[in-house]
Amino acid sequence: MPNRKRILITGAAGFLGSHLSDRFIKEDYHVIGMDNLITGDLRNIEHLFKLENFEFYNHDVSTFVHVPGDLDYILHFASPASPIDYLKIPIQTLKVGSLGTHNLLGLALAKGARMLIASTSEVYGDPNINPQPEEYWGNVNPVGPRGVYDEAKRFQEAITMAYHTFHGLETRIVRIFNTYGPRMRLNDGRVLPAFIGQALRGESLTMFGDGSQTRSFCYVDDLVEGIYRLLHSDYAQPMNIGNPDEITIKQFGEEIIKLTGTDQELISLPLPTDDPKQRRPDITKAKAILGWEPQISRSEGLKITLDYFKSLPEKEIHHKDF
Ligand code: NAD
Ligand code: UDP
Repeated sequence: MPNRKRILITGAAGFLGSHLSDRFIKEDYHVIGMDNLITGDLRNIEHLFKLENFEFYNHDVSTFVHVPGDLDYILHFASPASPIDYLKIPIQTLKVGSLGTHNLLGLALAKGARMLIASTSEVYGDPNINPQPEEYWGNVNPVGPRGVYDEAKRFQEAITMAYHTFHGLETRIVRIFNTYGPRMRLNDGRVLPAFIGQALRGESLTMFGDGSQTRSFCYVDDLVEGIYRLLHSDYAQPMNIGNPDEITIKQFGEEIIKLTGTDQELISLPLPTDDPKQRRPDITKAKAILGWEPQISRSEGLKITLDYFKSLPEKEIHHKDF
């Protein structure tokens, strides 16, 4: 049996966790996936079940986590990530970011493993500066609807840094900016699957507010490469990983209409409470420390993602509640 490095990936059946599982399998790691499937889908990893270097546990990481054998690395990616998901399950969201992270830090300490946590640009809240460097402390409303996610992630960073400082645990913190690609759920409410799903069904695209708010979209393969490099670096401070190519939501909707070749319109719906007005990563640190920057343009990434959504069974595209 080859002497493979062993990595635990929580949230493995989700969008990012499944791509990370693929990457570490490709690098010949032994991957242990863990997920309670609350927002994930086993179909994202079913191709890995036949491999001898993949195993899977259906488990809620907010309860005690046990993994037999050695562990070299832990990637903690379990957490609802889309606003409609975390608004539907706010307590579970708070628990997986806090109790779940605590459980996994304890596991990392017991196993002598290096732990990387999936933080988010949401720690910057509705930012007063643009782009956002890692030194910015953010502008978060703790009791607003998004607070359950943002504050869980801020606590997650704080407890991770405390384990690093007080226990000497090897930790890494990635602040992920809006990422997209195959295996996003068409009905997860995030803007890209929402717009593509609407365009494919021949519906108007639902733009929230006047569409002047901005986001910066990163293709999933670029993100995975950044995470891979950060994990293997010796940098323990938070690191932004994202694509700085910023666009308004209105322009983004127009791009999707053009790409899908539909003649749909953008309609305006009310802007959700505390929706950030601007978001763009400052990736100076990732460039200098990891030698990383995104390689895939939005037009390339969107084409690949559209092909993925088109390849889904008709009933998934046409039944919004699927
Ligand atoms: P996702 O919903 O597709 O995946 C999350 C996975 O975690 C799901 O499979 C879900 O079932 C699992 N999960 C949730 N709670 C769990 C629990 N208590 N125990 C075990 N498993 C649990 O979301 P995603 O987009 O893949 O996001 C993954 C991680 O990356 C999250 O931590 C998210 O906060 C972070 N992140 C994502 C983005 C992005 O743009 N996708 C941006 C910033 C941060
Ligand atoms: N948005 C939109 N229409 C939708 C879904 C989202 O206009 O159907 C907007 C949303 O208000 C936000 C942006 O698109 O300004 C990105 O939303 P998403 O939920 O994808 O991510 P986040 O707000 O977490 O960055």
